[in-house]
Amino acid sequence: HPNLQAPIPDAPTSATVAGNVLIHGSGSLSQKYGHHAGMINGLEVVLPTGEITKFGSCAISEYWFSKAPIPDLIGLFTSSFGTMGIVTKVSIKLYPKPKKRDIIFGFTQDFDGLPNLMSKITFTEFAEDVMIGHSHTPSNMKDSCSVMVYITGNSTEEMDLKRNTIEKIFKENNTQAVPIQGQTRIYMMDHPQYTAAFAADWRKGGGFEYVGSFIPLEKIPEAFEKGVIISKKYGLVPSLLCRIIGSGHAVMFSVTFPFNRADPDDRKNAR
Ligand SMILES: Cc1cc2nc3c(=O)[nH]c(=O)nc-3n(C[C@H](O)[C@H](O)[C@H](O)COP(=O)(O)OP(=O)(O)OC[C@H]3O[C@@H](n4cnc5c(N)ncnc54)[C@H](O)[C@@H]3O)c2cc1C
Repeated sequence: HPNLQAPIPDAPTSATVAGNVLIHGSGSLSQKYGHHAGMINGLEVVLPTGEITKFGSCAISEYWFSKAPIPDLIGLFTSSFGTMGIVTKVSIKLYPKPKKRDIIFGFTQDFDGLPNLMSKITFTEFAEDVMIGHSHTPSNMKDSCSVMVYITGNSTEEMDLKRNTIEKIFKENNTQAVPIQGQTRIYMMDHPQYTAAFAADWRKGGGFEYVGSFIPLEKIPEAFEKGVIISKKYGLVPSLLCRIIGSGHAVMFSVTFPFNRADPDDRKNAR
């Protein structure tokens, strides 16, 4: 659609729409509009009995536009990992697609200040997607984390206002804005970031896991601290990521680890 966009996870192309929304996936619109399961309008599901059922407006009309205002049973099928039935059709919401998109990138060492920084950014309602990354590779990054704020707009004036506001918030919250150029900019503006799959495999060997969950905003510093401890315990280079879900209501936090699929010990360690 020329003026509408779907939420896109930074996942490899093998990820399916149904699989992603059913696991409460997150992506390029998550700060603004929330996790992907919340974007479901309707489902067609084959129950374990073989019965074909519909949920949402499609259950009582030919339109798949809303899951309200009828009893909402869609939650029975999300994050239930296929145990409640097989989803054969899913309708998701589409959102306005502004003409311009840009990234504001920064570094900070103030881990304890991250919840406040995130609140300030989300309160502006200027961002579509906000992520924080913390990795011990390269090793000189182990005391810092990177903050990525994606903004969109329809005019240069709108984009300038948003950029200046976010950069001011960065400055007031011990975060240094850094211009992103060249190949790095191309990677980071990729939509979806297909390069994420290559970057994830930096150790080589094709294996990549991430253990992700939703946590409250104020738990970000503790999650980073414990993620480092757990990674080190298993001989993994800490590589942690969080993505804001909704207007600061929650955070998808993940501990990621690449491993060599051909190495049985490495596989065991990953498990
Ligand atoms: C480098 C990398 C980056 C990634 N980035 C992101 C990201 O930014 N955001 C994000 O959300 N994810 C991300 N992922 C995770 C990836 O997108 C997930 O594998 C995917 O979202 C799940 O979809 P899938 O099609 O692989 O589902 P599967 O792994 O096949 O299924 C997931 C679960 O849902 C169930 N299921 C699947 N389809 C159906 C169905 N039709 N009916 C009923 N149950 C079903 C399955 O039984 C299973 O339990 C990333 C992964 C990698 C490797």
